[in-house]
Amino acid sequence: MFFLRTIRRRLVTGFTFAFVLLLGMTAAAIWGLERHQAAVERLDYLVHRSPDKARLEAAVTRILRPFAAKIDLNKDAAVRLLQYDYLKKINAAQAEANEFYTRSLDAPRDPELQTLGYGGPHPLLTVTMNAVRRELSDLAALSTKLNFSDVTDFQTRQNARDAIELQVGKGIAAINSTLSRLPEHDQLANVESSLRAEQKESTRVMKNVRLLILVALISYAIALFFGFRWISNPLRAVASGASRIANGDTDYRLPPVFRWKDEFYDLTHNFNRMADRFQESEDQLNAKVEERSRQLVRSERLAGIGFLAAGVAHEINNPLQAMSMAAESVQFRLMDHLDPDHPDAAEIRERLEMIQRESKRCGQITRRLLDFARNERQEKQKEDLTRVVGEVLAMIRPMSRYQDRTIVFERAAPLIIEINASQMKQVVLNLVSNALQATNAGGRVEIRLEEHTDWVVVVVEDDGQGMKQENIVHLFEPFYTTKETGEGTGLGLSITHRIIEDHHGTIDPRSEGPGRGSSFTIRLPRRQPQQKAA
Ligand code: ADP
Repeated sequence: MFFLRTIRRRLVTGFTFAFVLLLGMTAAAIWGLERHQAAVERLDYLVHRSPDKARLEAAVTRILRPFAAKIDLNKDAAVRLLQYDYLKKINAAQAEANEFYTRSLDAPRDPELQTLGYGGPHPLLTVTMNAVRRELSDLAALSTKLNFSDVTDFQTRQNARDAIELQVGKGIAAINSTLSRLPEHDQLANVESSLRAEQKESTRVMKNVRLLILVALISYAIALFFGFRWISNPLRAVASGASRIANGDTDYRLPPVFRWKDEFYDLTHNFNRMADRFQESEDQLNAKVEERSRQLVRSERLAGIGFLAAGVAHEINNPLQAMSMAAESVQFRLMDHLDPDHPDAAEIRERLEMIQRESKRCGQITRRLLDFARNERQEKQKEDLTRVVGEVLAMIRPMSRYQDRTIVFERAAPLIIEINASQMKQVVLNLVSNALQATNAGGRVEIRLEEHTDWVVVVVEDDGQGMKQENIVHLFEPFYTTKETGEGTGLGLSITHRIIEDHHGTIDPRSEGPGRGSSFTIRLPRRQPQQKAA
């Protein structure tokens, strides 16, 4: 379907077809008019210009008419009048004969007359007409005899007139018999047959015109049908789809409008691609908004907690210390006086140690809360990050409960970066201890430092329990923990996040899923941006 594949081709094909149809109708109209004109001309010719034998015969017969009038032969004037009338009739017959001959010569347009021998100088025609002319001249010569001036006798005059009339009658008969040699041609019959032919022709023309009108109507209906199907309907589908998407139905996609790969196919395809991209960017935007809102909630919560923590932690810290010291002093005193073999001695010692241990843990929590609440900017200066990490690891490595884990940190070269060393220690400590806690015996934790021109990347990676995607989004929320009660505070990562933000860096937690390890990637600028003076 080469001519219908694209809308352009379809339009060109349609318009060409319409143009051809128009040409056809115009040609039919011109043809019909020409035929009609030709028929009128032929009728005109037949009526006014065709050779008319009957008219010639009548003119010849009229030569005898003057003799029919009763005249007084005694009067010379009456005889001269007869002679004059007679000559007039002969002249008229001669003129008619000439006209007949001329028309006969001039009839080449009429094939019917031609076949009869009238078209052009036909030998029979010329011979006959010469004979007729001669005979008419003979009759004209007879007129000289119509002069009775030297005859006085009436009867002699009468006899001479009768003899001339007889001779004229014979001459006319001779002319008519000569003319009868020419083929008969009935002008009226010719006119009628010509009219009939014209009627037949008109009917044919009308039939053709009707057929053309029918074809035009059918073509118009077809053009209308396919115009709707190929152009109007797809256009409406595109328009309504566009308005649906514009009104917020971003999941809607235009259905394929046509089976051929035409302009509408491209339009639909590209429109859908555009809608996909639009939706994609909308999703991204939504995700960003969600992330920002979460950050906002987090910061608000942090601020609230900071406010609470500052008060509560401070208040709790003192009684906790008092409890711990009291328990310690009770233990010392009691141990001095208590018989070690006393059945309750061991339990009392254990409970007292428990009071000390738990109040210390509470103290740790309050201290962390206070850390968290402390919002002032910490001084940052150029430090060696390799040394900072090394010091943290030196603190962790000897801890007995992580003896069966492997901690890998291979870097020895110094890495100078503008940070607050004690805060950064806290960050590394949080991340490494989380990683160690997430691993089982035999687990591996690796710390890597990557150096870029303007950035430094710290990666803490473990092969431990991993994280679910739905947990990752909550990691930095304060008090979010999956550890058993008493095990975790859920504050480590929120503090870490706050410190990294304070260093104008980013932290990106990743995990392939439960059981597939986790990694935390920190990006820090080598140099802190200049703080604007307050
Ligand atoms: P806490 O360690 O006190 O629970 P954190 O804020 O440090 O609080 O950590 C919050 C939660 O993040 C943890 O309870 C744990 O579920 C998850 N998490 C942190 N680091 C890791 C890790 N390396 N592997 C698996 N989960 C981790």
